[in-house]
Amino acid sequence: MGDARKIPAPVVTVETQAFWDAARSGRFTIPVCTGCGKAHWYPRAICPFCDGGKVEWRDASGKGTIYTFSVMRRAKEPYVIAYVTLAEGPTMMTNIVDCDFDKLRIGQPVSVVFAATEDGPPVPMFKPF
Ligand SMILES: [Zn+2]
Repeated sequence: MGDARKIPAPVVTVETQAFWDAARSGRFTIPVCTGCGKAHWYPRAICPFCDGGKVEWRDASGKGTIYTFSVMRRAKEPYVIAYVTLAEGPTMMTNIVDCDFDKLRIGQPVSVVFAATEDGPPVPMFKPF
């Protein structure tokens, strides 16, 4: 859709390199601890649930629900900042796109879409489905 908002390239760090590499090939991945099996966000080398040190990137479903959101109407191109709780458990800060912002509601199911950035890998955003 006609979302003209320019999206800056994400900051790629050692901890998130694998995530952005996957994003470039259209895959949405999240860190999962091989010790306790739980996914977490943001990416960390040590599992926040069990302090385990073996975390690997796995393909996620790309499905989630809106935990909370805010429509930024003062921007030239209004946009939505939201926290989305992924089906795998963690909650991530993101944008909601490709929808009527007035119809958004908490608890709404959303799925991931990748948005192109100005000079970097695409960033995951979500849209209602
Ligand atoms: Zn763990």
